Amino acid sequence: MLYCLVLAGCSTPVARKSQANSGFAQTPQKTHLLYLLPSPHSRLYVEVDAVEGCEPKDIALQKLKEFLSAHCDKPDGIEIVRSDVIPIKAARGISPRALARKYINGPDKITASTPAFMYVLFYNYALCGDSAVAKAGHPGASTPPARRPEVGNPYAEVLPYPTIYFNPRYFLGMAKNQTLLHETGHLLGLVSRRSDPHDLHCPNPACLMNAHLRPYRWLIGKTQKQLCPECTAELSQHSRQSPRSNLRFVGPVLDRSEAGYHVLSLPDRVTLVFKELTEQDCQHFAAAIHAEMPNQELRVDCLAGDELLEDSAKVREMINRLQADPLDRVQNAGPKILLRACMARYDHLGQHANYVETLRQAILLDGKDAWCYNQLAWVQATCSDASVRNGKEAVAAATKACELTGWSNWQFVDTLAAACAEAGAFKRAVELQEQALRTGAPIRSEQKAMQERVRLYKQSQPFRENSDKP
Ligand SMILES: [Zn+2]
Ligand SMILES: [Zn+2]
Repeated sequence: MLYCLVLAGCSTPVARKSQANSGFAQTPQKTHLLYLLPSPHSRLYVEVDAVEGCEPKDIALQKLKEFLSAHCDKPDGIEIVRSDVIPIKAARGISPRALARKYINGPDKITASTPAFMYVLFYNYALCGDSAVAKAGHPGASTPPARRPEVGNPYAEVLPYPTIYFNPRYFLGMAKNQTLLHETGHLLGLVSRRSDPHDLHCPNPACLMNAHLRPYRWLIGKTQKQLCPECTAELSQHSRQSPRSNLRFVGPVLDRSEAGYHVLSLPDRVTLVFKELTEQDCQHFAAAIHAEMPNQELRVDCLAGDELLEDSAKVREMINRLQADPLDRVQNAGPKILLRACMARYDHLGQHANYVETLRQAILLDGKDAWCYNQLAWVQATCSDASVRNGKEAVAAATKACELTGWSNWQFVDTLAAACAEAGAFKRAVELQEQALRTGAPIRSEQKAMQERVRLYKQSQPFRENSDKP
């Protein structure tokens, strides 16, 4: 309790260290320049959503506007707009990021110039955590969690998308206004001058950007309402940088263009676009995020033209570029996603050899991708095109897929059975096919197909199919 009274911390750097996927770091995308500089956006639009009961007071938003006006060069104005009030019922059991995705709207479409966009979510931690889900049974359940909730720190996230997640009940509500400005300071790029790039806070205990906001300082007449001279100087230094020509907001969507591709982002979501970007692509991305189920797993999507997908040299070049992208998530998931899109294209065209080649490329990128080993084995075991069939390689690939998943996936065991049949080991194929039927719970239609395969293998015949396994 005493600790609580003297230190109100921001969990921003903690969020970065513990959540590799959120990849908090100030530098890679430089979104803070979109807020600080008059170009490419001469306006700033701040959307404020709040879970019922957590709505900020007018004075808090007034202070926020003063803070932004003092540091952001926006000749056409700064607008702070209260948008959704999220009913408690709708917020229960949903993570702050999922709420952000569902309720983020972006600036008003009627205005002529597209503004820079900042999103602030005031959420109720008591409703959001896993404990709330566990106690309430399922998202949207009407019974409140019985246990007293833990207190969630406010935090700012910059990557892949700048957002402030603010729990106003944190720290008994004290130092609330300063904490909001502190988190906004992070979105404006503070503090990036420390020698340790992981340290995003100011060492000056009197500064708003210190890691700890100490309400007791108010008792001795020394509040932390201001930025220290060093932090102010750092902002001025950012403001003298030239604007990023490849970064902008399109509505709420952040668009970063790189050679040959665009990275679109929204709270905790990224999509890659390997073609000329249209405003409609951004709208579709935003609509897909809105329509997501709550607490859906992280994923990276892509949108690519057939011309690229069918050109393996271009795809290879693109993979090299993705691997050098400043965003971790793009480096790691981007090449894989692009190769999956190529596979889907070759599958559609019935180009089995190209399909197999792309699978091999994907396995070279990630030797632990059981899905790819399984696909490769299935095509090599069952394809109607004899030129791509290879029983021995199919057995090796299917075995690898089973090993990687601890023999728990019936589809992979099913594939290994088909591979053994292709390699002429029919007795083993029957055993494995029966094992696959016992493993997990294949759906009824699949069970029937699997039983038919048992009969085939018993007659020493391999299984053939015209199209690849979905
Ligand atoms: Zn902080
Ligand atoms: Zn400072």
